[in-house]
Amino acid sequence: MGVVVQKYGGSSVADVEKIRAVARRVVATRAAGHPVVVVVSAMGNTTNELLQLARSVSQAPGRRELDMLISVGERISMALLSMAVTELGAPAVSFTGSQSGIITDERHSAARIVEVRPHRIRAALDEGKIVIVAGFQGVSRDREVTTLGRGGTDLTAVALAASLGADWCEICSDVDGVYSADPRKVPAARRLDTLSLDEALALARAGARVLQADAVALAHRMGIELNAAHMDQPPGSGTRIQVASLPQRIAAVTVDDQLERFQGPDLAALLESLGDTGAGIRRVDGAVLVDLRNWHDRQAYVLPPGVTSSRVAEVSAAGTEALASPELALAGLGALKAGGVQVLSWTATAQALSWLVPPEQADPAQRLVHAALL
Ligand code: ADP
Ligand code: ASP
Ligand code: MG
Repeated sequence: MGVVVQKYGGSSVADVEKIRAVARRVVATRAAGHPVVVVVSAMGNTTNELLQLARSVSQAPGRRELDMLISVGERISMALLSMAVTELGAPAVSFTGSQSGIITDERHSAARIVEVRPHRIRAALDEGKIVIVAGFQGVSRDREVTTLGRGGTDLTAVALAASLGADWCEICSDVDGVYSADPRKVPAARRLDTLSLDEALALARAGARVLQADAVALAHRMGIELNAAHMDQPPGSGTRIQVASLPQRIAAVTVDDQLERFQGPDLAALLESLGDTGAGIRRVDGAVLVDLRNWHDRQAYVLPPGVTSSRVAEVSAAGTEALASPELALAGLGALKAGGVQVLSWTATAQALSWLVPPEQADPAQRLVHAALL
């Protein structure tokens, strides 16, 4: 049988009891005859706590040292899970990103994978072992530890699935699949049984946390089917994210609340000043929209003269192509205005209709757009 890659997010390994439950699920998958590679995130809120710890020592910690620090979270999970699997009587071995052969470029805190050489993983699988890999990290060609950007354990899992020729890759979190909106924010959200990789890419890029955008982009490129599932449910039971396209539709409403908008008289100078900081430039359209996820020393950045900035949230209706239709964009706009939401600007692209709103209005805004368009 083909290799199965299973990824368990931070909430699935948040405490020792949960780690034991993951161990049981992994061992059951192996007992069904599959060679298993497990990719784990840091326990619960560990990565945020490590970042906080760094900030308590330095306002502008160097990115190399930050990566040394935050890559530790995943190593804790991998070692504990390996011990828990061994306790159940199954052979297991854990590997760091570097030992797994995840080779990246040098961009600390948002490194790109350039190559995967999973020799040690293959050898351990051949010996019948369950392989447990620390997600979110790799090693550069000059042997520095790097991290792949927030949520990057998903990317580790997809990259390993691709390089090991796995049939599919399971992404386990605290929801039982992908919904038409974040079910914690929009009570009317419905679970989607199937989603195409095109649609998954559109909603991940629009900021839906359930799947990391770079991971979906890689799955899309490599034709790797995903399954988004809850760890309490059997493998294959979640949302199937298939390679084949589905009829065009709006698949889901998402919110990205990790954004800051910079405005100023000279956008070129502004972009230049942001260039080296770790700011993720999302869009330039009269203002510069920045993704804050991997910009860990934002507080040390001094605004250039004349530049102002504010936190914003972007609400999007994500789906496939023809949907970037003005009627739907206007219907969303109308619903937001009627609901008292201040719309700062809106855009329509091939993959999403998006409205920029003040962060404190993001919750009502996503409910209004979901009610109007889904
Ligand atoms: P993990 O720590 O396992 O990687 P995340 O917290 O990154 O998990 O992602 C799971 C969370 O994503 C859910 O708890 C849910 O609140 C949120 N989410 C956002 N959009 C959606 C959506 N469309 N469908 C399901 N969950 C979503
Ligand atoms: N632990 C990392 C983060 O919190 C990676 C991940 O969870 O995927 O971003
Ligand atoms: Mg995640």
